[in-house]
Amino acid sequence: MISVPRLYASQCAKSINCEPLAKGINALEADEKLNILGQVQGAFMIGDAVLNIRWAASEAHKRKIISAITCRMVAVNKFPHDLSMALAEMVIEEVAGTKRCKKCNGTGEVFSKKQSKYNQCGLCKGAGQVTMTHEKVLSQINNHLRNNGSGLIVSKEDWSKKYYDFWMEYVDELHKAEADAARYAKQLLRRIEDSWCEVG
Ligand SMILES: [Zn+2]
Repeated sequence: MISVPRLYASQCAKSINCEPLAKGINALEADEKLNILGQVQGAFMIGDAVLNIRWAASEAHKRKIISAITCRMVAVNKFPHDLSMALAEMVIEEVAGTKRCKKCNGTGEVFSKKQSKYNQCGLCKGAGQVTMTHEKVLSQINNHLRNNGSGLIVSKEDWSKKYYDFWMEYVDELHKAEADAARYAKQLLRRIEDSWCEVG
């Protein structure tokens, strides 16, 4: 069974070089891949978008999610538009950014010569990604605000008292949406594998 990351990454490679797909079994597989991706998108639109951002580096999905979060922050949280957009950029960065851990190169494990075995990476705690500190997130938000020319700056105090909890809620929600979509994709991949076994 191919993994969910490979399922998403494979459409990326295809769209970059636009080569025709191989015939026969490969073409069938490609059809089925598209079919699965379509089903996941239909059932878990947000989670599917996060998977596309993480594994296929999809700019289109990134813009879509950022604008969806921005709209909701403006409508529900009553945050200013420019600030909402900066917060949304950093929600995506936190959830699906590609900040690969430099120590383990994204694998989450580091080889210890002394013990001659792999150990969990101490820097990323096995996640393969470096999570940003609160201060780092805030400074990035302010960078976005500066680049947008909005003239707004979020102070450290406002960040922790007014915005951080809301920002984190969006982060948690996207993590959950992604996990749901990935679980469904896995289920569909397994079902196809099972049906091949029945035929064979
Ligand atoms: Zn690491």
